[in-house]
Amino acid sequence: MVEAVGGTPCYLYDRQRITERVQGLRGALSPRVRLHYAIKANPMPALVFHLAGLADGLDVASAGELRVALDTGKSPEHISFAGPGKSERELRQAHAAGILVNVESFREVRLLEGISRQTGRSARVAVRANLPFALRASGMKMTGGAQQFGVDAERVPELIGEIQRAGLDFEGFHLFAGSQNLRADAIIEAQSRSFELAREWAQQLKVPLRSLNLGGGFGIPYTPADKPLEVRSVIEHLNTLAERARAECPETELVIELGRYLVGEAGLYVCRVLDRKISREQVFLVTDGGMHHHLAASGNFGQVIRKNYPVAVNGKQEVTEVASVVGPLCTPLDLLADKAWLPQANEGDLIVVFQSGAYGRSASPREFLSHPSALEALV
Ligand SMILES: *Cc1c(COP(=O)(O)O)cnc(C)c1O
Repeated sequence: MVEAVGGTPCYLYDRQRITERVQGLRGALSPRVRLHYAIKANPMPALVFHLAGLADGLDVASAGELRVALDTGKSPEHISFAGPGKSERELRQAHAAGILVNVESFREVRLLEGISRQTGRSARVAVRANLPFALRASGMKMTGGAQQFGVDAERVPELIGEIQRAGLDFEGFHLFAGSQNLRADAIIEAQSRSFELAREWAQQLKVPLRSLNLGGGFGIPYTPADKPLEVRSVIEHLNTLAERARAECPETELVIELGRYLVGEAGLYVCRVLDRKISREQVFLVTDGGMHHHLAASGNFGQVIRKNYPVAVNGKQEVTEVASVVGPLCTPLDLLADKAWLPQANEGDLIVVFQSGAYGRSASPREFLSHPSALEALV
């Protein structure tokens, strides 16, 4: 397989696993909950195209991702755009394409007002709010306290006033509490509170609530100590919310937009051992891959405590020694596995890093030291 895609270093994404993951979720979810893919988790065009055929919509975080999303042929009705710091050019492009913009500031509303006036067509917007609470037990918190994302919950009424004055087409709310969460109870609690808050806002401010986007954040296990997310409970709870919405606000469509959970476990990163070095009794496997392709596995992508991703030596099972897998960069940060128990690997052996389908290649400093990029294939 590695030879077929052009050799190491490379990322391999398993089409079948992605299909099964999305179809499993889609099948269990009420038809009243839409399942979107958040492209930033893995923007490889072939993979996004594959997901566009499986998911109900796509979420983009830049004009570049928007182009990939539009190339898939997905209807702009089901493409949304979130992210702080949207440029005027990006907003023009989003408006021209007819996608939903999750506005994150008063400035974005002002700009969209100007663009809508010029073109004679109202922009579609939802309000991304910084919730008055944080998501418990989350790898990365996106709400609660001071944040660069969205507008503070207290100012949502004022922002909606501006949207109405500007004549924009208000569709609902975008409430994304945090990423990499393995606790079903924490996700459920955040989704319940978000649902209540959105309903309160819609009632108090007398605005329609057509779309309520509850964000992503479903986590995947990276270490043996991580217990996989009990996704069943989260789905059942979402289905209960969808039933409530049907009874209380039938015009409301719920949306979840998942990144990591849809693709993370379907990806491998493969590199080759160039050198086996022993330094003062410690084994170092120096490879042709490293943090410049896989920053997250090196522990430098927002992790508070560095933990090894699961790694293996291709074709060898019997674990016999402790070794560190490192890359060719001139920094001790270039570490793919720190003192891991592995089978003995020699020059030419392949090292496989699992759980590498999300926040891998595109989240890495590829230019650092000017080594070749990692190839990618959807297999
Ligand atoms: C990153 C992101 C997601 C996806 O998050 P995951 O934790 O990968 O599921 C969803 N929505 C928005 C707005 C994002 O920025």
